[in-house]
Amino acid sequence: MKRQQPAISYWANSRRWAVTRLTRSDAGWSGWTAFALAATLAILVALSGLHAGADKALQLVRDDWTSRPATGQIHIVEIDAASLKRIDTFPWPRRHHAAVIDRLRKAGAAQIAFDVDFSAASNATDDAALAAALARADGSVIIPTFVQADRSTGGTLETLPLPQFARHAFLASVNVLPDSKGQVASYQYGTVTDGMPRPSIGVMLASGASTNLTDSFRIDQSIDPETLPRHSFADILAGKFDPADIRGKTMLIGATAIELGDRYATPGHGILHGVVIQALAAETLIQGRVNPPLGPWPLLVLVMIGLAAMLMLRGQRPVLYAVGAIMLPIAVLALPFLVEGAGMGSLQLVPAMAMIFGFAVIDHALKLVRKVSADKATDKATGLPNLAALTSDLADIDHRTVVVARIVNYAELSAQHHEKATAAMIAALAQRIGVIVGQPRVYRVDTDDLAWALAMTPDDPVFADSLSSIGLVLRHGIEVSPGETLVPKVVLGVAQGEGAHAARLIELARLAAQTAQQRGLTSLVSSDALMSETAETQLMVNDIDRAMGMGEIFMVYQPKWGIAQDRVVACEALMRWRKSDGTMVNTGQFIALLEREGRMADLTLFSLKLVLADLLAWKAQGTLMPCAVNISATIIGDSEFFEQATDLIAAADLDDGDLIVEITESSILQSADAAIAHLNMLKAMGVRISIDDYGTGQSTLSYLQSFPADEIKIDQGFIRALGGSDADRIMVESTISMAHALDLKVVAEGVETAIIYNLLADMGCDVVQGWHIGRPVSAGDFATRWLNGPEGLNGSEAAKRQRA
Ligand code: C2E
Ligand code: MG
Ligand code: MG
Repeated sequence: MKRQQPAISYWANSRRWAVTRLTRSDAGWSGWTAFALAATLAILVALSGLHAGADKALQLVRDDWTSRPATGQIHIVEIDAASLKRIDTFPWPRRHHAAVIDRLRKAGAAQIAFDVDFSAASNATDDAALAAALARADGSVIIPTFVQADRSTGGTLETLPLPQFARHAFLASVNVLPDSKGQVASYQYGTVTDGMPRPSIGVMLASGASTNLTDSFRIDQSIDPETLPRHSFADILAGKFDPADIRGKTMLIGATAIELGDRYATPGHGILHGVVIQALAAETLIQGRVNPPLGPWPLLVLVMIGLAAMLMLRGQRPVLYAVGAIMLPIAVLALPFLVEGAGMGSLQLVPAMAMIFGFAVIDHALKLVRKVSADKATDKATGLPNLAALTSDLADIDHRTVVVARIVNYAELSAQHHEKATAAMIAALAQRIGVIVGQPRVYRVDTDDLAWALAMTPDDPVFADSLSSIGLVLRHGIEVSPGETLVPKVVLGVAQGEGAHAARLIELARLAAQTAQQRGLTSLVSSDALMSETAETQLMVNDIDRAMGMGEIFMVYQPKWGIAQDRVVACEALMRWRKSDGTMVNTGQFIALLEREGRMADLTLFSLKLVLADLLAWKAQGTLMPCAVNISATIIGDSEFFEQATDLIAAADLDDGDLIVEITESSILQSADAAIAHLNMLKAMGVRISIDDYGTGQSTLSYLQSFPADEIKIDQGFIRALGGSDADRIMVESTISMAHALDLKVVAEGVETAIIYNLLADMGCDVVQGWHIGRPVSAGDFATRWLNGPEGLNGSEAAKRQRA
């Protein structure tokens, strides 16, 4: 058994097609746009240095997390408060310093360094004692020099220890340089004063060296100053220590008593004493933690490469993209730890993070914008691109031809089928048309209109071929679910224009389709003549309210001639619009346009009032004639309209059968329950129901029988062709006999000649209407000629006979 294609597959396929097109055309674009914008932002941040503060703070956070102990190689001998208290003279007698040197040397200290100023002389005995101790130590003691600004020369001035001290010691610089924030964050390898190189004390203690002494390095804030071994100067002096602790160590002697000052702010540890800072600088070198600053670029370039790779994967490998989206920021946060931990350098990560977050935010914003515009550009029911999409796409096509396919029986199809089915049909139709015309992008520009644009002119033979293929392909209808086939009837409107405004081009193609429909053609190419005609009508539609108020809208009456009675039996009220300059507006056209605009309710109530007034005037003269009014398909089911209409009719005090309502066959077909209920109510009020333009729709007579109809009016298209076409003759004849069998009266519209009249009379047609009987005339003329004249109700037999 052959499996039938289920409805949903058309539905799903076409939807998927529409959706992929949208994402493919826009997603890549917005991703790379976000990339470019975020990269620009990040580069600007990196170049401007705006990130430096934040990066410093982050570095401190990392230092805090990776806090590490000192090596224990550098010991501090603190000239602390206790020492000051115990040695109660100040400045300190230098024999104490001498004694401490001896004690430390005796305990086996590898190196002794002083962060204590020995540049000025004290008393001779003490100075001699210190000089002697230094001489005994024979070069293993480091004493400080420092550099100060020299106001007199504008240069620098080195302050050196007294010559008798310097002779037996190493000299090292103890300068620390606070940065612009007053914090000591970095440490200079040394200073050069008057051509004399002096390594810094911390560098000397760590036996570090640098080619360029004026270079500096960052003091590693992750080394915990609390872990530096410390001794009180007084304890050493008193011999209260374990020499084993000191053997082989480097002893750095300096002030930690608050009253001695020498305190500096640091980025990571608050206020520290100068001697501690020197020790930390030495530790930084000893632990190999001089991380050369690598700046923001390595991470930024890495992020750019990573993001670019992710963007390339985004369409095809969404999972990989998601993994990347999680991994990238983690990598940026983790890499500085790893690189710094390995002593390879210190990384700045803020610009890289700015790139990631900038990208995320911009990409998200662009996605939102895209989603909103995609929603705006998509028909919800079918997923097809809509009018807005076509209007914007048209801007990119040079030789522009727009074709509109109007589904003329859309209303009937949607009345008979579920909306899912009609949507599936539209989607499938769009797909088939796309294949035929070689243009996959087919738009739904209105409920019943599909459209597409081509880069060829309508006189191209390929173009004409493709249009005729559309009709062929639709002949068998579209199966939307097993057993459910919809047969859309399509007319085509074409408009072409090189420089024309997109919206106007589409509107012209739609007008061409509408005119094709009105004229019973399968397709129509918009021309200048058609354009000006329809454009003018459109303008006037907007003018309808004023026209009603100014009396430009009025009714004319056309006789309906009963063949058996051989006299006028009724009339039809037809609307006319005469503009103030005397020109007439084509009734069929402005009514069709107003129906499209949903403006028929007021106009129909207006016409009903005019007709009822004329009928009552005739009644007052004693010559009342049943009269038909036309009610559009679009409003028959409208309850508000219906209530107002029935109020008017009820108030008019007419007899049963005096009023006839004509509704077109198609309106019967698309009628919802409300419309049918309304027709039954009208019938109950004594109004006769007439089915207009019979034969143009698809209904069968037996189907119509379920409606409260009294008569059918065979469409003038069949009647006018009666003389020439056998097929039409058979159609009319069989319709008449079947209608009679169903107890329906038959009216023939558009009877223009005696030949046709006689044919219809032979076929047993009940009533004829047309120019052969009489053209529509004003209410006054109608009364004069058809109610009171010789051909009228009370006219002579002779006049009636002339008819045949
Ligand atoms: P319809 O209701 O089928 O009206 C018949 C149309 O045929 C009228 O055109 C009439 O003037 C025209 N006609 C009558 N006899 C002949 C003939 O022998 N030969 C030819 N060629 N035409 C003939 P009209 O007045 O232009 O109206 C066109 C359509 O506009 C009407 O078709 C009807 O559907 C609609 N219409 C007219 N007046 C009203 C109205 O007051 N309300 C509504 N809702 N529709 C109206
Ligand atoms: Mg009519
Ligand atoms: Mg008609």
